[in-house]
Amino acid sequence: MRLQDKYKELRNTPIALLATNFYNFETLEGVLQAAVQCKSPIILQLTRSSIEYMGLPMAFQMARTAINHHGVKAWIHLDHGDSYELVAQCLDEGFDSVMIDASEKPFFENISVTQKVVALARKYDACVEAELGYVAKLGQSTEKEGFTMPEEASRFVDETGVDALAVAIGTSHGFYKKEPRLDLERLSNIREVTNAALVLHGGSGVPHATLREAIGRGICKINLATEIKNIFMKTLKAKLENESEIDLRKVFPVAIDAVTMLVAEKLKVVNNK
Ligand SMILES: [Zn+2]
Repeated sequence: MRLQDKYKELRNTPIALLATNFYNFETLEGVLQAAVQCKSPIILQLTRSSIEYMGLPMAFQMARTAINHHGVKAWIHLDHGDSYELVAQCLDEGFDSVMIDASEKPFFENISVTQKVVALARKYDACVEAELGYVAKLGQSTEKEGFTMPEEASRFVDETGVDALAVAIGTSHGFYKKEPRLDLERLSNIREVTNAALVLHGGSGVPHATLREAIGRGICKINLATEIKNIFMKTLKAKLENESEIDLRKVFPVAIDAVTMLVAEKLKVVNNK
């Protein structure tokens, strides 16, 4: 099933898809084992940094092979594609879905680059996500507010034809210094005036009850990255502290399992269990 069709199926249900970033074989394995355990579909995401780290064919083929090996329903998605060229490379490689993030550009520039990406993606039958509003990236101010405006969202989706739209309603990337307060009223208003699947970036550290509420109000995809990196590295560090083992195959599994437990918890939330 195409991701864009899955989104349509999820509309008006209390269920969303979890989109998890992976960085290497171990995090990929941890995430997919959770999907197997929970018998849940999942989205695997790659950012430009991860693609540069592993190399595009390696990152993509490893994910595709792992999906087939585990027999889970999963889609491979480009997270925060920052240029038309990167998007084109990923579509050529075989990605199911791409995000073009021109959210920091002026409204009309965001529309025009997104239109170009949608036109290209249609040739590959791939799904497109765009972003409207300011969701602070790592290192950016979380104080600045640039919430998505419903009337702009409606116009943006109409003019671009995107399948999915990342909205700014109070989340940010990285860890939160204090508990995030989401503008759920705004989310409902956006949902009312647009048909695109709504996406919540910055899912790490958002209380589960808030995630459930957001899904109830129309969020179809929740992104999770920071918590995965954090649990993997913390578990690994703790393991290495009193460890003289040099066989890395005996060291990594504990960190892989920690990722699996984390993602399984989140999968319960998005699947309304
Ligand atoms: Zn994001």
